[in-house]
Amino acid sequence: MIVLRTVAELRVAVRAARSRGERIGLAPTMGAFHDGHLALMRRAKDECGFAIVSLFVNPAQFSEAADLARYPRDEGRDTVLATATGVDALFAPPDSEVYPRGFTTTVDVGALALPLEGVVRGPEHFRGVATVVTKLLSMAQPDVAFFGQKDAQQTLIIRRLVRDLDLPVRVETCPTVREPDGLAMSSRNALLDAESRRRAPTLWRALSAVRRVVDGGETNPSRALDAGHAILATERIVPEYFAAVSAETLAPLGVLEGEVLIAIAARFGAVRLIDNVLVDARSART
Ligand code: AMP
Repeated sequence: MIVLRTVAELRVAVRAARSRGERIGLAPTMGAFHDGHLALMRRAKDECGFAIVSLFVNPAQFSEAADLARYPRDEGRDTVLATATGVDALFAPPDSEVYPRGFTTTVDVGALALPLEGVVRGPEHFRGVATVVTKLLSMAQPDVAFFGQKDAQQTLIIRRLVRDLDLPVRVETCPTVREPDGLAMSSRNALLDAESRRRAPTLWRALSAVRRVVDGGETNPSRALDAGHAILATERIVPEYFAAVSAETLAPLGVLEGEVLIAIAARFGAVRLIDNVLVDARSART
């Protein structure tokens, strides 16, 4: 696996792969790799002759300086793990390569960035995400880019910007990889203390409870969410949000129908965790 630091080096490697007739795959990440990231990389390598993982902790998407400062970083360990997946290149540019002096352009996707994470993290969060992903897609010019369902709103926003800006890339969504107890893998899990780590899988248990009642035919969103709130209450978890929204538009639903995204965020001390599940409420309307 080669390690690339500049856009110029990346473009040379991509051009060489294309001239060999290979498809280019890109899995953008912020590092501190876990099995969720590794699944994205393996999928990229399975589907593309030349698979790139990018590692860039994007300062523009952090609204709290403390969150950025404590974000886990270990490029040495990440390099070993990425190599083992078989990806061909690790693109790990310095901040100055991504945001050179005088950088001012941003990408704003509008309404999709406003609810859920947008409410809690502010409009700058998804502006930062959309801008850096647009740049990474432009830098690597992949045929296929891989993102996780774990960050459902982010993945939806990326699909939208790719469509709206006519970017010539196919976006693939990979399923959420979980710990054996259901906790969605996240780089932030490493920051949980023992008691928070014990309580954190409650988020998945709450989402699963909602999914069960919707699968059972419940079409009233607040009654469906109540099943999850009951689980959260057993661990005294008060979520930042816990919502049933359209999986396509993220709009709140008066009645659960079609593809529904059940999304949750909660704080465990200083650590914020998010998770979600997709439910098909169509079958409930018979
Ligand atoms: P991050 O490094 O957290 O920005 O994540 C990089 C990519 O990995 C994003 O597309 C995430 O959605 C994806 N990802 C993060 N955690 C998981 C997980 N547990 N399962 C699947 N994909 C994930």
